[in-house]
Amino acid sequence: MADDAQKIGASPLFRGRVLSGERFDILNARKWLDICRTRHGSLCEVPGRTSEERVRSPQPVNLLAIDLQDMCVCKMPPNSEFAALSYCWPATPSLVLKKANRIELFSHQSLNGRMQFLPGTVQDAINCAKALSFHYLWIDALCIFQDSDAHKTEQLLQMDRVYGAATLTIVCAYPVPRGTTDACSGLPRYGKDIWPIRQTIKNVSGLRLMTTNRAAYMVLDENSWGQWTLSRAPITNEGAKMASYQQALTEYTLDLLTNNHNLRFV
Ligand SMILES: [Zn+2]
Repeated sequence: MADDAQKIGASPLFRGRVLSGERFDILNARKWLDICRTRHGSLCEVPGRTSEERVRSPQPVNLLAIDLQDMCVCKMPPNSEFAALSYCWPATPSLVLKKANRIELFSHQSLNGRMQFLPGTVQDAINCAKALSFHYLWIDALCIFQDSDAHKTEQLLQMDRVYGAATLTIVCAYPVPRGTTDACSGLPRYGKDIWPIRQTIKNVSGLRLMTTNRAAYMVLDENSWGQWTLSRAPITNEGAKMASYQQALTEYTLDLLTNNHNLRFV
């Protein structure tokens, strides 16, 4: 465990830690984001922030986003910092951006009165990104006109850039929650979801050892998010890149969402 690492002269990084409670630990997530922003440097630099990078890995263009302060859909200013959501769509139709509701959804505070029409995962992602102090959040259903082939094509072709430029991608990659039939009913251990995680800790010769949660690749193998993401990949030329990028992202984003045992942010 991280707390015992120094006893054997090891770094506490990447060691197990005891989880606090049944709920997602937003303070820990904030701390990790701060570490990412202040200490990871070029490792986690947003692609396209420098002129050299911009050529190699261009920023998404004409991106719509949810303005979390004004609570409405907006045109995101270029090079803004934003969070993105990767998830499975709900089993039943819900509120999405269409030409007919454009004016409505672009109006200030419009989402405040419409949260109940959004799937649980989208509601949780909005609240979570807000709690992490993001100004903008990208969610495909609300940021791509679902009845415009032209807008869909333009945006789908740059999905790799969208996820590549996001400071944080919230990946809702877990099996259908208990008691529901919909993989879009909420983020694990956030909002309405309570998910006690059992940790077995044994003291062996003065060192506390603990069991681990399942590795991210095991979760991905058996849940609908992994299959869904990979099935969408061929839509774009760069889909495969996006899919592998998302899988890589999952290694630590899943950790962020589930408070997994490994601290993956250095
Ligand atoms: Zn980082």
